[in-house]
Amino acid sequence: MSKTNLNALFLGPKSENKRFFSEMLRFLMEDHISWRENFHPEDPPLITPEEHDHASFQDTLQKTREVLVDLAGRLEMSSNPWFSPRYLGHMNSDTIMAANLGYMLALLYNPNNCAYEGSPATTELEVEAGLQLARMLGYDPDKAWGHITSGGTIANYEAIWVARNLKSIPLAVKKVSPDLVSSMSDWELLNQSPGWILDLMDRVKAEGCFEEVRDHSIRGRGMSEFQMGKILVPQSKHYSWNKAADILGIGLQNLQFVPVKSDFRMDIKALAHAIDQNAAQRIPILAVIGVVGSTEEGAVDNIHEIAALRDTCTAKGISFYFHIDAAYGGYARTVFLDDQHRFLDRNEVIKKFQRPDLNWPCIDLYRAFKAIPQADSVTIDPHKLGYIPYSAGGFVLKDKRVLDLISYFAAYVSGQKDEMPGLLGSYIMEGSKPGAAAAAVWTAHELLALHQDGYGEIIRCGIEGTANFFQALRDEPPITIKNDRFMVEPLIRPDLNMVDFAFNRIGNVDLNEMNRLNQAIYNESSFRGGPLYANEWIASKTSLNRREYGEAPLPFIEKFGVPTSQWEHVGEVFVLRSTVMTPYLMKPSVFEEYHHRFMQTMRKRLSKAVTQF
Ligand SMILES: *Cc1c(COP(=O)(O)O)cnc(C)c1O
Repeated sequence: MSKTNLNALFLGPKSENKRFFSEMLRFLMEDHISWRENFHPEDPPLITPEEHDHASFQDTLQKTREVLVDLAGRLEMSSNPWFSPRYLGHMNSDTIMAANLGYMLALLYNPNNCAYEGSPATTELEVEAGLQLARMLGYDPDKAWGHITSGGTIANYEAIWVARNLKSIPLAVKKVSPDLVSSMSDWELLNQSPGWILDLMDRVKAEGCFEEVRDHSIRGRGMSEFQMGKILVPQSKHYSWNKAADILGIGLQNLQFVPVKSDFRMDIKALAHAIDQNAAQRIPILAVIGVVGSTEEGAVDNIHEIAALRDTCTAKGISFYFHIDAAYGGYARTVFLDDQHRFLDRNEVIKKFQRPDLNWPCIDLYRAFKAIPQADSVTIDPHKLGYIPYSAGGFVLKDKRVLDLISYFAAYVSGQKDEMPGLLGSYIMEGSKPGAAAAAVWTAHELLALHQDGYGEIIRCGIEGTANFFQALRDEPPITIKNDRFMVEPLIRPDLNMVDFAFNRIGNVDLNEMNRLNQAIYNESSFRGGPLYANEWIASKTSLNRREYGEAPLPFIEKFGVPTSQWEHVGEVFVLRSTVMTPYLMKPSVFEEYHHRFMQTMRKRLSKAVTQF
């Protein structure tokens, strides 16, 4: 087959592919209609033509029409135009047409992926999609496992669920079968690597006391009997980690934030220091979380350095679970893979871009993506860079043996390969869940392979569009409004496809005033500025504060001539935030046109803000 043509992938900003979309939708709906009709054709229709003539029948249909037209109106009035390059805000753009159609089709079958019985078709699709993700992330598909969650939040919970239960196993073994861990102290037992613990579990299973060990682990005994220590997350973490620490009984006080540097990547020296300091106080590390694509800045932590640090620590007798939160950036790994899913040389990745002069990825990014399979598990969201409709997150495990720690009903899940898809509900967080979401993910993965010529193609477009936007912001000459001149600066060179940026009046050294200006622009650039459908340009925003980020944002405010003392005094900088997921801004001519409109809009918004103050 020839290469995927991106122009044929989406309904399109102007519904350019409407004919194909309508035809396919009609075909699929009629296919489903026949599926019902042909189910035991010997059964007669239960709704007869005479029924149709009842006034109440006609009334009900009329009411159905009215309600649906009402719904359409409400959606049209107040929804985000994600399909348009005028929308540059959250991680949203058009979603893949095949995924939308697959979702709508599967919806009519209403599969429930909690149990195989309620979803023989889509449970298999969910587990297949999970394995496709595992392979893309660099795991061995024979050992790995993955599935579709409702989102990154739930996937992160599953990571801590697993890490927590795993950490408690060696101590449980000591209670139940002390001979297996005879010469080891509690501290040593709390500092074994996940691989070592899983091997220990195999021995426990061989001895026939696995159930008993599990009952003596955190799962059976609860948190009060264990001192599991800290979860270390970078300051740039998503707030689902706070929720995870709360819900899973870890406690917020055991969530420790590792400083990020001014590029918003985790400071690895600070991480090493945090681990050492805790160890010195005999506090174990439950897990270290690396972020691939921070939610607010799009920054990618140096995963290779975290992995290397874990190896060093393990050798020193301090080990921990390593999870990567790649909810946002995970799919970008497709850019690095050839069609056999081999990790490419950096030069080959660079050359695939229309603009190799971008030199993307830098060496750290390259190494970070390469090192992903060294983590024990990964969160990755198809409903972000996978261009899939909600709700589709993903949780992927390097070693599926850990499922036995969390499973209900079927013990020894991992031993029975054929049974695997059976009862998803017995070893995931959720219960009943839409098979349609899994079907949408699977459909898109089948259409667009998870490597450089499939998904990699769209993601490269996003990265190049982002680079265009970043460069334009950097090159923007001062904007004159009446007697004032304004400058704009991006926060960091984007690691992926997000640009944060802010405006300031040239000469203004007051951070509060700068924040008010950007807040006023955001108000106009969002649902707050009136009906979204009439809005000329839509963005999102974020606020970086000193409590959460320490001094990391300081070099940014200094670019505007705002002094350090203001940072200490105000402690917060408000920025506009644009994710460039739309594939269309890669083309220079399209970019020029949209950028021109963007600057016109910004000029209007600056003028309005100036007259307001
Ligand atoms: C979006 C995001 C999450 C949460 O994912 P949801 O799908 O919104 O639940 C977690 N971590 C990171 C880094 C994210 O960007």
